Amino acid sequence: MTVVIRSGKPQTTESLCNSCYWAHIQRGFAESEEIILCAFLRPAHAVPFKVSQCTDYNDKRVPSKADMEEIAWIIRTKDVNRPVGFANEAETESSEEDEPEIVPSE
Ligand code: SF4
Repeated sequence: MTVVIRSGKPQTTESLCNSCYWAHIQRGFAESEEIILCAFLRPAHAVPFKVSQCTDYNDKRVPSKADMEEIAWIIRTKDVNRPVGFANEAETESSEEDEPEIVPSE
């Protein structure tokens, strides 16, 4: 495998817009039939070349903070003020009733 580096940049042919959240991409059947519109700034404007670096790139393959909050579980303990550390056997039996409750976030 040969990696070509020119001017300190990797020479890839894949445009960042292909995986960007802000891109609207239309492709036809021919290689030349492709329109990429960038919707980061309104109104959306055409991107006339393959983008190798962009300050507003937002990878749509990575879940957003809001997506992660939606799938997160919230763990609620019944008694937040209980003492921490070693416990004797009697306390251990009663603490089984105090198992934390796991509820999915809304
Ligand atoms: S923000 Fe940058 S990478 Fe994303 S679609 Fe617009 S020009 Fe392409």
